[in-house]
Amino acid sequence: MKREFTPARLDVAAFAEADARLSGQGSLDEYARLAAEAVEADDPGAVAWEAAGEQRQGAAGRAEPWLHLHAEAALPLICQRCLAPVRTHLEVDRWFRFAPDEDTAAVLDEESEEDVLVLSREFDLPGLVEDELLMALPITPRHETCPQDVPLSVADPDFEAADKERVNPFAALAKLRPGKPK
Ligand SMILES: [Zn+2]
Repeated sequence: MKREFTPARLDVAAFAEADARLSGQGSLDEYARLAAEAVEADDPGAVAWEAAGEQRQGAAGRAEPWLHLHAEAALPLICQRCLAPVRTHLEVDRWFRFAPDEDTAAVLDEESEEDVLVLSREFDLPGLVEDELLMALPITPRHETCPQDVPLSVADPDFEAADKERVNPFAALAKLRPGKPK
């Protein structure tokens, strides 16, 4: 019999043991923290994800639950060059390894390349999807080629200069340290 899993309250160990899969897709509005980063646009944005469980042999011979997550989102952000909305694509593709408790997770996290999370019988999978997509947000979203009829684009040299400083905060910091070579 196939077992049903609930994304918002996922029994991670059982999910991994069953090699189960879950997927979801919906509007950006369902992800409040991510939606807060987006701007108003005709196309409000969307999120899609897929998770797969897998059980692996741990160091102590104990079965260790792993989870693979693939998530994508498209959302309107503000282009830092022309200040118009730019539809931005985010993608996350990574493995997570689960430890039985906080202490073990901290130790494993030191020695492993993957992210280590604490095992839960009620794991918030959509919360993880949202966390990961938030981390994938670009620091300075930009059009590949900005729309041409944007009034602020290249005309104003002060604006261009201000834009450059915003893009590189370290340049501004360097100016405050007189001893540093340029
Ligand atoms: Zn632009």
